[in-house]
Amino acid sequence: MVDTAKFRSVLEARLAELQARLQEIDEALDSHQSKDWEELATEREGDEVLEQMGSSGKVEITKIKAALDRMEEDEYGFCVSCGEEISEERLDVVPHTPFCRNCADKRT
Ligand SMILES: [Zn+2]
Repeated sequence: MVDTAKFRSVLEARLAELQARLQEIDEALDSHQSKDWEELATEREGDEVLEQMGSSGKVEITKIKAALDRMEEDEYGFCVSCGEEISEERLDVVPHTPFCRNCADKRT
């Protein structure tokens, strides 16, 4: 049986970190609103990078929240596709994964 409490604290820490980072990204993007055109042109490229980081962060947040929901349902640590237990080694690497190694391989 998977040590849910351990992974819950890992996931919650990661979630807090991502949310803090997204907030910084939002603030950075907002602060660019009132600059002159010249500065804006150079910052626009930086903004694209920031937005990309922001959207990959949002995807991860969604996955982490889904994993925390599965903990509430006592389904955490079991593959949502085949129902097999997910190995702890795998959860150590990707604690928010909903799939066992076999199913994840099939999806890629
Ligand atoms: Zn599976």
